[in-house]
Amino acid sequence: MSLREQLCEYGRRAVELGLVIGTSGNLSVRQGDLVAVTPSGAALDRLTPDMCPIVDVEGYLVEGELQPSSETPMHLAVYEATNAQAVVHTHSVFGTVVATTMTELPPVHYNALLLGGVVKVAEYATYGTPELAANVRSALEGKQAALMANHGGVTIGATLEQAFEATRLLEWLCEVYVRGLGVGKPTILTDEQLAAVVERSLDPPVFPRRP
Ligand SMILES: [Zn+2]
Repeated sequence: MSLREQLCEYGRRAVELGLVIGTSGNLSVRQGDLVAVTPSGAALDRLTPDMCPIVDVEGYLVEGELQPSSETPMHLAVYEATNAQAVVHTHSVFGTVVATTMTELPPVHYNALLLGGVVKVAEYATYGTPELAANVRSALEGKQAALMANHGGVTIGATLEQAFEATRLLEWLCEVYVRGLGVGKPTILTDEQLAAVVERSLDPPVFPRRP
């Protein structure tokens, strides 16, 4: 699948799964110095490949008629600072709830390790600005995900599929935490418990075959 076809596919899935409403999210995928990104102001479930602009890593438009998403500077800042090959940004409900009420998402489930543990909430700045890009960049340091204060979430991956799955996981973790707060006081996993999970994953049990 071409980069632009991938944007159409995952744009549609993001809307289908309720991670994005209408135009409120953007995706990008990188190959070398080129980045295919969803266009500004277009519904993500109605994209066609030729609608998706291609920019270079310096932010110059290389191909396409439509303007790139207004959040493209944030995507490019993330590519500059990490080895990510794809970035997904949404205004998903539970991610945005956490991003408007907290300064971080604590690890209440060991799957948070797949995103780097604690998910930080990047300080608020106006959408599309270099300030927001810089805040997201520092919140993402050493992580696969960050939240953006009063805005939404952002995840990265080695492929668009990985970045997309990270967005689904981020939303699930936020939902578990927010719903947990409605029931009682969620227990936060300790550093020791998380270290034990890492150890366990490095040394999985091997079941011997019955002779
Ligand atoms: Zn946004």
